[in-house]
Amino acid sequence: MPLILRVDVDKPFGHSNLIRKISSKVFEDIIGTPPLKFYKYLSHLIEFLEYCNSEKISGFIYHRICTSPNKKVTDLLIDGKHKFGLHAENTKSYETFLSEFHDLKKRNPKLIIESFTKHGSGQLKLGKYHYPIYEPAKYREWSKKANIKYQSGNGIAQNTNDLLCKNDEFDNVFWLEREYRNEDLFEIEKIIELAKTENVVVLIHPCNYHSFKVVKDDFQNLVNLSKEEKVEWIVY
Ligand SMILES: [Zn+2]
Repeated sequence: MPLILRVDVDKPFGHSNLIRKISSKVFEDIIGTPPLKFYKYLSHLIEFLEYCNSEKISGFIYHRICTSPNKKVTDLLIDGKHKFGLHAENTKSYETFLSEFHDLKKRNPKLIIESFTKHGSGQLKLGKYHYPIYEPAKYREWSKKANIKYQSGNGIAQNTNDLLCKNDEFDNVFWLEREYRNEDLFEIEKIIELAKTENVVVLIHPCNYHSFKVVKDDFQNLVNLSKEEKVEWIVY
C-alpha cells in the first residue's frame, strides 16, 4: 500500500520574509487574482516541485485562484506527472464552488482538474473569496453532482485508525506541519509502517516547506524512509 501526497498551495509568494508575507496578503486578501508575471511568484512551490520531480514522486497539487500555476509551474506539473486540483475557497454554495472551478479551469487549459480540497478548516477567513466554514458533507455531495473527486478532508488524525480510508474517503490526513499532529501519531516512522498495509494521505504546504527547515527535513526524511522501506507514492 502506498503514500498519497497532497499539496495545498496557499500563498502566492510564500511567507519566508516580510516582503513575501505582505505580497502574499495583498494578492490573497485584496486583489484575489494570480500575480502571474511577478518576480518570485510561486517560487516556493517551484522549489518543492523540483525536489519531488528529482525524486520521481508525483502528488495531487491543489491551487487557489490566487495561486493558479504560471508557465514554469505548469511545466513542472506536467513533467512530474502530478494531478492538478482546486483548493476551493468560495464554498458558500454549489454555484460559487462551480464558478471557482470553471475560473481555474479557464486559466489552465493545459491541465485537467480531477479533484478538490477545501482551503481552511473553519476558523479564519483566509482570502478575498474565502468562505471560512468547513462543511465536508456538502463537499461530498458536490463531488458527486459535479463529478469532481473530493480528495480528502482537513482533519487531524488522533490515531492510525483515523487516517484510514472509509467509504472511499479520507476525512483526516497526516500533516507534515508538526503543530497539526497529534502526539500519539507524531513520528514519520509510524506513517511509513502504516503505509506498508494502508493508503495514507500526507499533506504539506509548499510555503511551509520553503520557510521552515523542520518541515523540509521531515518531508525529505519521509521520502528517504519510503525509499528504504520500499513504500510507493501514488496518484490515481
Ligand atoms: Zn489552504
